[in-house]
Amino acid sequence: MDLTGKIAIVTGAAKGIGREIAFLLAKHGADVTVADLDQEGADAVAEEIRSLGRRSRGVQVNVANRPEVTAMVRDTIEHFGDLDILVNNAGITRDAMLHKMTEEQFDEVIAVHMKGTFLCMQAAAIHMREKRKGKIVNISSIAGKVGNIGQVNYSGAKAGIVGMTKAAAKELAKYGVCVNAVQPGFIDTDMTRAVPEKVRQIKIAEIPMERIGVPLDIAKAVVFLSSDYSDYMTGTVLEVTGGRYM
Ligand code: NAP
Repeated sequence: MDLTGKIAIVTGAAKGIGREIAFLLAKHGADVTVADLDQEGADAVAEEIRSLGRRSRGVQVNVANRPEVTAMVRDTIEHFGDLDILVNNAGITRDAMLHKMTEEQFDEVIAVHMKGTFLCMQAAAIHMREKRKGKIVNISSIAGKVGNIGQVNYSGAKAGIVGMTKAAAKELAKYGVCVNAVQPGFIDTDMTRAVPEKVRQIKIAEIPMERIGVPLDIAKAVVFLSSDYSDYMTGTVLEVTGGRYM
C-alpha cells in the first residue's frame, strides 16, 4: 500500500491508537497533521514522523469546537497543499452506571465522539467533494455494536458514529469520497489501562486470539481503508477484535 504524496489528518494522535495510525500512514508515505488537545504531545509525534523523512505538524484542536476544526483543515491544506485522508480517532470515556451517570458525563462523550466526528467529516468533505477524491475513516468501537456495562454514553456515541459513517458514505460516494469505520475490540492504551485490573483480565480471557490488541492492529486496518486497496469499499465497518465478537 503506497500513500506517497497523500496528506492525512489524524485526530487524537498524541498517543495511543491515533499515534500509531499517524506513524503507519507516514511509514506508507503520507504526510500527516497530528491533531490533539495536547499540543506538546502532538508536536512530539510530529517530530518523530519528520525523522522518518515525511512532512508532519502538530496541531492543537478540540474536535468538538467548530472554529478549531475549520482551522485544522485549513492549516493542513495551506501547509501541505491538499487533504486526502481524515481519520477521526479522538476519544474519551466518562464511565458510570446508567443510574449514576451525570448529564455532564453523557454530554462530554457525545460531544467528542459524535459532534467531533460530524464537524471533522464536514470540514474535510467540503474539500474532498470539490476534488472528487478522499478517504474518511471513523474510529467507532465494538461497544457501539454490543454495548458495554457502565458505558451507555460511549456505546451510544460509537453506534452513532456507525450511522453517521453510512449516511456520509451514501452522500459522498458519487464524489469519489469513501467513508468507512473501524470497530476496535479491547486495545492496550491509556484508555483501557484505566479499567480495573480484574475487569481487564476478564475481557482479555474472552478474546479467542488470547491476547489484548495493540494499537498497531487498528492502525493496519486504518491504513488499508486509507489506501487504494479499499477503493470499492464505502459505508463498511471493519471489526478488529481478535475474534472477540463475530
Ligand atoms: P487514548 O490513549 O486515551 O487517546 C485518545 C487521544 O484523543 C488522547 O490523546 C486525547 O487527548 C485525545 N482527545 C480526547 N478528546 C479530544 C478532543 N476533544 N479533541 C482532540 N483530541 C482529543 O485512547 P485510545 O485507546 O488510543 O483510543 C483512540 C480511539 O479508539 C478512541 O476513539 C476510542 O474511543 C477508540 N477505541 C479504543 C479502544 C481501546 O480498547 N483502547 C477500543 C475501541 C475504540 P487527552 O489525553 O488530552 O484527553
